[in-house]
This record gives sequence, C-alpha cells and structure tokens, in this order.
Amino acid sequence: MPLKEINILGKHGKQFVPDLEMVELTPLFRGRPIIGTNITEEEKNKVISLCPVNAINNSPFCIDMGKCLFCNECHFALPEKINFTNDYKIATNDRSKLIIQAGQDIPIKINPDKIRKEIKSFFKHALKLRQVSAAGDNSTEMELNAAGNVNFDMGRFGIEFVASPRHADGIVITGPISQNMAEPLQICYDAIPEPKLIILAGTDAISSGIFAGSKALNRSFLDKYNIDLYVPGNPPHPLTFINGVLNLMKNKK
Ligand code: SF4
Repeated sequence: MPLKEINILGKHGKQFVPDLEMVELTPLFRGRPIIGTNITEEEKNKVISLCPVNAINNSPFCIDMGKCLFCNECHFALPEKINFTNDYKIATNDRSKLIIQAGQDIPIKINPDKIRKEIKSFFKHALKLRQVSAAGDNSTEMELNAAGNVNFDMGRFGIEFVASPRHADGIVITGPISQNMAEPLQICYDAIPEPKLIILAGTDAISSGIFAGSKALNRSFLDKYNIDLYVPGNPPHPLTFINGVLNLMKNKK
C-alpha cells in the first residue's frame, strides 16, 4: 500500500468501537439520572412545574426516563441535587424500571420474568428488525441508522434492519404514532411472522413525549400487545439501543 494511504489510515485511527459493552461516554452525555434525597418541597415543586413533559412526579419524587427529554432543565434548576450520569445502558423490558426515585443509583436491567415464553426459544445468532417511523422526527431514526454504521456495527452480532417485514423477527417503532400512521403500523406488524418482538425506541414512542395528549395521535396499537423492550432517550444513543437488544437476547436464555 502506498505510503500516503498508510499515513491517512494512521491518522484516522480505528474506525470501529472494539467493545460496545464497555464504552465510556463523555461526561456531557445525559443518561440515567441521579436524584438527591435532600430536595425540599419548594425545590420539588419548582422542577415539577418547569419540566415540559411532566416527567417529574412527587409521590414519590421521581423522574420517568420514558417521558424525559433529557433537556437538562431540572439539573440547571437544581445542579447539586439532580444530575444526569453518562450511563447509556438504560434500555429495559420493564417499564417501571425507567422511573428513577430519589437516592436510587443502580444500573437499569432486563427483567427476565417479563420476557415472553414464545420469544425465549429463538433469536440465537441473528435478529432482523423492521423499523417503522410512526410520525417520528427523524432523530431516533438517524441514531438507529448509526447503530449499523462502521463505528457501532451492530451487524457484528447479527442484528440488522431489513426492508421487508416478511424477513423480520420484530418491529422497532419510533415516533409518537399519529392517526395517519396507526394503520400502516398495524399492517407492517401483521406482516411479520410469529413470534415477533416489539421494541419502542425513543421518548416519543414510549410516552409520546411533547405530543402527549394530542388528538393527532392514535396509540391504540400499544394497548394490544406486550412491549418487549423500551429504549429511552430523546433520541436514544446507538449504544443504548444495541446494549438493550443484546441484554434482552442474553437474558432470555
Ligand atoms: S431533563 Fe427530563 S425530567 Fe428534567 S426537565 Fe427535562 S424533561 Fe423534565
């Protein structure tokens, strides 16, 4: 190889993340929050009222990562008492684990008891997923695309997005699910062979985010089926998605 090309390769460094489960993200990344136990009632009311998506509740005081936009406003208001760590391993199949209470500082895990029996027997070395943007804003969709790029390369684990639902083992839903997308989402889901996974990626999909309560949404699809994985983030980091899927596949054994 000519010297010039070798120099270019040397300057680029490694073009992939060697171990996706051991990455240390920058402290600027906002992942799992930690809430102090010494917040006064006045401070609680202050952050509850400023949260744009009602992700903070007071009985008990907690932050719901399934609703949170990770905008950091509550941290700016109470910098000593609410902090977002760079822990990106926050995907789980147990919706209740996304609710972080004051004083809680434990990793988010998969709940093996909530894994459906019918999906325990498959997904051994390959997992093909069909992604449906149900009125998404393209942010989560871009991060899911990045999960397959040369840096993250989730294809190394056999996890890939496919064009046809007929070739998929499950569906990844992004966006808050608009009225217009309710039927296409159902058609796509119906076309996937049984048994099949349902993964909600991003705050909009999990809780409808800033669109909560809008008459333009139709989220009745979610009432009909078991959700196999919640991937929080606004948008979620590719590593959150990849580690969530990997942990789900490991725990089902
Ligand atoms: S970071 Fe989350 S909990 Fe805090 S104000 Fe923003 S949306 Fe609300």
